[in-house]
Amino acid sequence: MTGPEGQGTPSGGHGLAGQDAEPPQASGPAGAERVVSSVADADDRAIEGALRPKRLSELVGQVRVREQLSLVLEGALRRGRPPDHVLISGPPGLGKTTIAMIIAAELGAPLRITSGPAIERSGDLAAVLSTLSEGEVLFIDEIHRVARPAEEMLYLAMEDFRVDVVIGKGPGATAIPLEIASFTLVGATTRAGLLPAPLRDRFGFTAHLDFYEPEELGIIVRRSAGLLGVALRDDGADEIAGRSRGTPRIANRLLRRVRDYAEVRADGVVTRDVACAALDLYEVDDTGLDRLDRAVLSALVHRFSGGPVGLSTLAVAVGEEAETVEVVVEPFLVRAGLMARTPRGRVATPAAWERLGLVGPPAAAADHATLFG
Ligand code: ADP
Repeated sequence: MTGPEGQGTPSGGHGLAGQDAEPPQASGPAGAERVVSSVADADDRAIEGALRPKRLSELVGQVRVREQLSLVLEGALRRGRPPDHVLISGPPGLGKTTIAMIIAAELGAPLRITSGPAIERSGDLAAVLSTLSEGEVLFIDEIHRVARPAEEMLYLAMEDFRVDVVIGKGPGATAIPLEIASFTLVGATTRAGLLPAPLRDRFGFTAHLDFYEPEELGIIVRRSAGLLGVALRDDGADEIAGRSRGTPRIANRLLRRVRDYAEVRADGVVTRDVACAALDLYEVDDTGLDRLDRAVLSALVHRFSGGPVGLSTLAVAVGEEAETVEVVVEPFLVRAGLMARTPRGRVATPAAWERLGLVGPPAAAADHATLFG
C-alpha cells in the first residue's frame, strides 16, 4: 500500500502547497525568529515528512486519543464504511497533521490536504469535494478559517455527501445537487472555540491534543535522532526534551540546532553539556520558555502588576499579534502554571512571580490565580 506521503493531488497532496498555506500568525516575525516557536518554518516542513510517525502504533504519547482513534478506525474498517468525520484541536506542533496522515494510512485511503485560508469561496471547496474519490480522507488544516459561504457547503457535504452547485446569479439562479463520493473529513484547528456550533456538531469524533510530557518528548527526540543519524546520548536527549515546551515540533527543531552545535563546536556527539551550551546560546531556558514567553510574563508582572489584563493589551505590550499570544504563547504558560485565564483577563500566578525572581504577587492577584486557575 502506498502511504499518504506518496500521493500527489491537485490541491497539493501531502506536499507543500497545502502546508504552505499557513495561517497569518505562522509567518509573523515570532514564527520566524523563535527557535522554540511551535509554528513550522520552511526548514521544519522540509524535514518533517521524514520524521512524522506513519502509523498509529508509532505515535508517541496522546494515549487516550490514540486508543479512541484506533477504535473508530478499526470499527470503520470492519464495516467497510468511511469513519465519522474527525476534528483535531490543539496548539501548533502537537501532531494534528501527523494524525490526519496516520488516519489515511490506517484506512489505506488516499489523502487530500488543503487549509482553511485556501478556501475563500464555495467554488474552491466544490472543486475539491467534487474530485474526491470514494473513501478519500480530506484534511482541512486551520478549518476555523474556511470562508462562511464555503462552510455551509461543507455542512451538506459532511452530512449527505452532496453539494449544491449554484448556476447563474440573482433570481434566475438554480442550485443543482451533485452527489460526491463518501469521504472522511479531518479538520484541524488551533482555535476550536472559533468553530461555529453546526460545524463542530458534524464531527463524530473530536480529539483534543495536549502538550507532551518530557518523557514522551525524550522518546520522540531519540527516534528523530535515529532517523537523522545524530549521535545522541541519553542525558542529551533528556535535556532537549525538558526544554521543548511540551511540543514535538520544537523538540525536533532543538535537536537539529543542538546537532549543529555538536558538529561545529564539539565532537559531534550530543551530550547534556553540549545540549545545555547550545540551548543557552539560543536563549531557550531550562523549562523551554523563550524570549517571547518571557516577554509576556514580564509584561504581565512588571507592567500590569500581575493582571488581570486583557489579551490584546498584553499583546500590544510585547509588540505581537493577539492571536500569536493566544495560540502560541498562552497555552504553554497556562499549562506550565505561570499564567491563569480569569473572566477579567490574564493573571500571573505566584509561580510566575517567583520565576522572575520576585517575592510574590499582591494578595488580590494571588486570589485570582487560585480562584480561577
Ligand atoms: P501540527 O499539525 O499540530 O502543527 P504536526 O503534525 O505537523 O503538528 O507535527 C509536527 C512534527 O512533530 C511532525 O513532523 C512530527 O515529526 C512531530 N510529531 C508530532 N506529534 C508526534 C508524535 N505524537 N510522535 C512523534 N512525533 C510527533
